[in-house]
Amino acid sequence: MTPNQNHGVRYTGLIDKYRDRLPLSADVHAVSLGEGATPLIKLQNVSRLLAVDVEIYVKFEGVNPTGSFKDRGMTVAVTKAVEQGSRAVICASTGNTSASAAAYAARGGLKALVLIPEGNIALGKLAQAMMHGAKVIQIQGNFDHGMALVKSLAENAPVTLVNSVNPYRLQGQKTIAFEIVEELGRAPDYHCLPVGNAGNITAHWIGYTECARNAGDETTAACGFCDGHCSLTRQRTIQHRPTLVGYQAAGAAPFIANQFVDHPETVATAIRIGRPQSWEFAWTASRESGGWFSSVTDEQILRTQKLLAEQEGVFCEPASAASIAGLIGDLEQGKIEEGSIIVCTVTGHGLKDPDTAIELSAKPVTVPAQQDAVRKIVMEHLDG
Ligand SMILES: *Cc1c(COP(=O)(O)O)cnc(C)c1O
Repeated sequence: MTPNQNHGVRYTGLIDKYRDRLPLSADVHAVSLGEGATPLIKLQNVSRLLAVDVEIYVKFEGVNPTGSFKDRGMTVAVTKAVEQGSRAVICASTGNTSASAAAYAARGGLKALVLIPEGNIALGKLAQAMMHGAKVIQIQGNFDHGMALVKSLAENAPVTLVNSVNPYRLQGQKTIAFEIVEELGRAPDYHCLPVGNAGNITAHWIGYTECARNAGDETTAACGFCDGHCSLTRQRTIQHRPTLVGYQAAGAAPFIANQFVDHPETVATAIRIGRPQSWEFAWTASRESGGWFSSVTDEQILRTQKLLAEQEGVFCEPASAASIAGLIGDLEQGKIEEGSIIVCTVTGHGLKDPDTAIELSAKPVTVPAQQDAVRKIVMEHLDG
């Protein structure tokens, strides 16, 4: 928060808020759009429908400036790129990384180049990258092909790679855990999230681990990412760190197959990834937390996306619904104890993918612009 001239307190983004916990110098100017500080919404109607005695919260990352959690990572990655004198950023993307990179590059005065899989990105995300003036390169291949291309490109051209292999991305994304611990006054028992490239599950674990360390929990002070010393502990020592549960789409589920997948397929295009870049990190995070991975079908994903929108007023994109779809399955199977406090990351906004939303929903009715005709529909609907 920075005091402004009117003596109010304006939220100016997560770098200003958490600067002392990020690898940035004290005086660097943040390239920010006010990301972070997203709402932690307690589910009411869905919890009642499920008839289970747990508290479920969704951290709605769809309200970040470009509509996904990618902004948390991008503010730090682009701030660092500017500080290092870079003139351009590049990424491969299933859509949201390109939208975020394009916006933060615009804000920071950098050029942006984005590689996207032709025909497999949601319309809203494409519109964002184009609108912010990025050079959009559609490749005749999938995300994994794009990733391989930009990694080698960034080694030989004066561009900064801003995929989540860029460590500053994960540093920014870890702040979601800080916010949740502040909001709940503790870490949740379980944290559920969709997994694609697996940067975000890694970032969540870094964040929760740092919170635990700050809280003085010596038993969790060692962490694989920080000092190469993992305290592999399954029991929850661990009021301070949640069990991490990662969900993948059944057609793009390398963590469930325990091997890379060559032809990932799912309606949830944001997690249509067969070769996750943070493969080892994610396994470490899962193991250290005593967690697991499981998969959900496209049908479960879409049903849950609709359920959240209709029952809670939360409109997320398909990939984001995977976390709640998976949680519902695990609750039904009794894998999560009664009384648990659960947080699900709802990673992106539903407006990103209007085509899928329209396909899932009842079509509008068309009537003449007359009282009688409209009244008839109103009465039918109220009775329905
Ligand atoms: C990027 C993204 C994911 C997957 O996150 P990873 O860090 O790649 O595992 C999930 N949902 C949405 C909406 C995304 O944009």
